[in-house]
Amino acid sequence: MSKDTTGSGAHRIRQVEAIANGTVIDHIPAPATLPVVDLIAIGDDQVFVGMNLRSSRMGRKGVVKIATRELSDRAVSGLALIAPGATICIIRDYVVIAKHPVPVPSRFDDIARCANPNCVTNHEKWPTRMEVIGREPLFVRCVYCERSFPGTELALI
Ligand SMILES: [Zn+2]
Repeated sequence: MSKDTTGSGAHRIRQVEAIANGTVIDHIPAPATLPVVDLIAIGDDQVFVGMNLRSSRMGRKGVVKIATRELSDRAVSGLALIAPGATICIIRDYVVIAKHPVPVPSRFDDIARCANPNCVTNHEKWPTRMEVIGREPLFVRCVYCERSFPGTELALI
């Protein structure tokens, strides 16, 4: 039985407690593991967290599993900012039925604060808007102050 989630087909996931149905976020950069939990966990969701797991691809990684449901569009956008390169797997009856990298949107609407302290969005209650100007690594530009930042400098709202 394979212990990783690579390859195609119906691999069962064993690194962290298996879930029957829900979503697994794999290949999370290790320091982003708890921020990912904060981003995706709502109310009384059942969440399983693996921290600092060994990964042949990235040394150490995090894995977060959320039972019974898929992620909101907003959560997926947030993942693109804080866990670039992570993988989303959809689980049904303990089987991975879909698996894909976190998609990077063309812009982030009201997901993250502008990192420019003088930006109007940090002084007025305006929704932030960042356009993606580079993908690997992620780079965004605020449409209000026109400053650009690496995605890693942005804090989620
Ligand atoms: Zn700005």
